[in-house]
Amino acid sequence: MSRVYEAKAAEGLEQLGMNTARELLDGAAQKAAAKNWSYSHFLGYLLDAELKSKHQRRVEINTRFAHFPYHKRLEDFDFSAQPSIDPKLVDELATLRFLSEGRNIVLLGPPGVGKTHLAIALASKALQAGHRAYFINAMDMARKLAEATERNHLPRLIRTLTKMRLLLIDEVGYLELSKPQASLLFQVISMRYEAGLPIILTSNKAFGDWASVFASDPVMASAALDRLLHRSTIINIRGDSYRLKEKRLAGITTTINNLTPACLSAASRQAGSRQAINL
Ligand code: ADP
Ligand code: MG
Repeated sequence: MSRVYEAKAAEGLEQLGMNTARELLDGAAQKAAAKNWSYSHFLGYLLDAELKSKHQRRVEINTRFAHFPYHKRLEDFDFSAQPSIDPKLVDELATLRFLSEGRNIVLLGPPGVGKTHLAIALASKALQAGHRAYFINAMDMARKLAEATERNHLPRLIRTLTKMRLLLIDEVGYLELSKPQASLLFQVISMRYEAGLPIILTSNKAFGDWASVFASDPVMASAALDRLLHRSTIINIRGDSYRLKEKRLAGITTTINNLTPACLSAASRQAGSRQAINL
C-alpha cells in the first residue's frame, strides 16, 4: 500500500505543477527518515522549497516585464555623495509602505543626481516582494498613448498603465508634451490616483514650471499636481551630477577643460574621444 502512495506523492506533485517539491521529494524522504522529522516537518520542508522557487520565478517574470533600462540597487547608492537626500527617508520607502498607502514618490532634481537610480532601486524592492511594476519614460509613454489612440487600442494600454501595482514614469519635463499627449498623461495620473495605485515619478522641473510640461496648460498642470501630490513623498535632490563628479575625480574633465577649440575639433573626429567631448 505504502508504495502506491509513494508513487501518488510524486505523481500528485507533478500534476499540481509543484516541480521543486517533486525534485526534492526522494531526498527529503530519506532525510526525514534519517533525522526523525515529524510528518509536518517533512511537509513544511517541501512546501517551503516549492513556495520559494515559485516566488523566485514570479520575481524573474515580473522583472522582465518591468522594462527597467538597467538594474540598480539601494545598496549601491552612495548617500555620502548626495547629502541633500535623507537616507532614513529612503529606508522608510524601502519598507514598501508607500505601496499599501497608495503614496506617490516624486524625485526632483537636475540630471545625473540619482533620480532614476533611486526610482529603479525602490521598484526593485517591490519586485522582490512579488509585486508587479512597469518602467516607462514619459516621452515614450506619451508617444505610445498617442499611437494606441490612432490604432484604437488605447483602452488596453491604459489598462496596463493604470492596473499595474507600481508605475515608474521617468524624465517628466525633459521634453514638452503636445496637448493630446499631456491630456493622456493626465488621465493615467488621475486614474491611478482614483485607484490608490502609486507612481514613482522623476523630473528635472520644479513644480512651478509644470505648466510647460503640460503643454502650457496651467489648469491641467495644477490638476495633475493636485492628484500626484495629495499622497506623496517628495525627494528634492540638489547638487552636482554624480557622473561628472566621478569623472572630475578621475581627472577627465580637467583634461577636457585644458583642450583648445582646435584640439576639440580634432579630437571629435576620433571615434574614441566622442564620449569625452560629450561631457
Ligand atoms: P538622474 O536620473 O538624476 O539623471 P541617474 O540616476 O541616471 O541620474 O544617475 C546617473 C548615474 O550616476 C547612474 O549610473 C547612477 O547609478 C549613478 N549615481 C547617481 N547618484 C549616485 C549616488 N549617489 N551613488 C551611486 N551612484 C550614483
Ligand atoms: Mg534619469
